[in-house]
Amino acid sequence: MKALQLHVDYIEYEPLRREGAVSEEVQPGPKSLRDAIVLFTSIEEKDDEEVAEELLREVADSMGRLGVDTLLIYPYAHLSNTLAPPMKALHLVRHMERRAQEVGLKVYRAPFGWNKRFSLSVKGHPLAEQFRVVSQETLKSRGTVEARATQVAVVEERETQHVQMGRELDLFSIHTVLGSGLPIFHARGRIIRDELIKLIREVNARLGFEEVWTPHLFKSDIWYQTGHYEHYRDRMFIFTVRGDEYVVKPMNCPGHAMIYASRPRSYRDLPVMFSEFGTVYRNEQPGELTGLFRVRSITQDDGHAFVRPDQIEEVIVRILNEVIWVLRLTVPGRISATLSTRPQSFIGDPAKWDEATEALKKALRESGMDYELKEGEGAFYGPKIDVDVEDSLGRRWQCSTVQLDFFLPERLDLKYVERDGSQSRPIMIHRAILGSIERFMGILLEHYNWRLPLWLSPTQVVVLPVSEKNREYASKLKERLCSEGIRAELWVEGTLEKRIRAAHQLRASFMAIVGDEEESSGTVTLRDYKGRVVRGLGGTQLSGWLLDQIRRRTNNRGEIDDTLSPAGGVLR
Ligand SMILES: [Zn+2]
Repeated sequence: MKALQLHVDYIEYEPLRREGAVSEEVQPGPKSLRDAIVLFTSIEEKDDEEVAEELLREVADSMGRLGVDTLLIYPYAHLSNTLAPPMKALHLVRHMERRAQEVGLKVYRAPFGWNKRFSLSVKGHPLAEQFRVVSQETLKSRGTVEARATQVAVVEERETQHVQMGRELDLFSIHTVLGSGLPIFHARGRIIRDELIKLIREVNARLGFEEVWTPHLFKSDIWYQTGHYEHYRDRMFIFTVRGDEYVVKPMNCPGHAMIYASRPRSYRDLPVMFSEFGTVYRNEQPGELTGLFRVRSITQDDGHAFVRPDQIEEVIVRILNEVIWVLRLTVPGRISATLSTRPQSFIGDPAKWDEATEALKKALRESGMDYELKEGEGAFYGPKIDVDVEDSLGRRWQCSTVQLDFFLPERLDLKYVERDGSQSRPIMIHRAILGSIERFMGILLEHYNWRLPLWLSPTQVVVLPVSEKNREYASKLKERLCSEGIRAELWVEGTLEKRIRAAHQLRASFMAIVGDEEESSGTVTLRDYKGRVVRGLGGTQLSGWLLDQIRRRTNNRGEIDDTLSPAGGVLR
């Protein structure tokens, strides 16, 4: 089967006279369609239903990507000289039409067995014209390739799955008109981001990182000083306004270094630490962009510590312990680390490098983490530790990084005053725990397979009154849960069954159902996503149980457990 697929602004066609032995009955007169895919199709001798289905699948996929849902199947004998007999060809064309309807396309078919006049206007974009060939032979060879590629395909399919979750759960979306790699977060997705930020804020407070804020762009001058302009230029967004050149920040480090340099620092002040949930912009190649895993707008849970050489080990141990705590809590898989050491070309004093690398090794041992040594693979400006976590699909994700830097303090002339009044350079430690908030969210969505733990869930409780009569009581319950800091919503529209189904679809953690019985006894019935139900709960008991799960950030994804049983409390 051969097909010429055209994306048209319009097509107009009109059957003129019958041609050949088999022709369909038609309504006379011209027909026209706008913004459609026209599929000029030649059915060949050896084609069968399988071939027809495969061709239609390819076309439907391509239409999905183009965002077009109108298809005109146009029998067209001129693409092949081994045509199928007319009856068979008509049968297969009809088969394709039915399949197209089944996958939800608006499908039209130009009549079979007629001479037709047609005129059309093809759109000018690169995918507007495509030629397709499918036969039993191509299907067979594809089969063997597919078998070999299964492993890869499974992973790739999973990789895009969180994008589907983003759309269906109303979390985030990616729009070509806004730019690829620039996802926008909807209200519900913003909640997940904020929960992750809240978690890291707690960690920062324990570690002594002070949160700061710096702008999204700086003049080029600073990026020349830091060396980014020279080494990182291809990945920076650079623009000129009134003769001044600016760079949209690809990193937060220079701003934090400037805060350090804004006042004299003594050896007693160190370590000095700044953190920022700064969104940085990197011009990744379009082909590398994947959902939230690889984006151009990256919000880092960034932090910089300015330390004395004798403080490296202690500071790193404390950071690593928090890294372990955060990763265990969020993606409870196996954690492991790598230590990348001095490369061939490097800057600074080799003795300082050795000392620092030794401190990192000690810190790793002390934190009890398994690590692999990557000899000579550090950056030219310092050794680093990367921490990986394994998700529920057995994939390893590098999330946390702790990077030592001898170079930037030198470049930006950072100093502190020693006990004896002399001046020394601090060492800078760049650290991120989640890495990129966007990417981490993608990992979580796939790891938890649609249903996030209660503490991360955008909708923790949906309050469902059984009927309109119970609305006021339900509304009070919702207000009460919200006032205690639980994300509760009141849903009143539609039948109870419909609302329960919608709550499932949105992956709401719990449903609180209130009818006459609950109202008269001042209680609530809680239902989880597995259909387990606890009746007769008091309001205090319900919110207390939920808040305990939320505060401890348990990995309860919306399941009632034995710690919740009715104690006959009264909700008033
Ligand atoms: Zn940095």
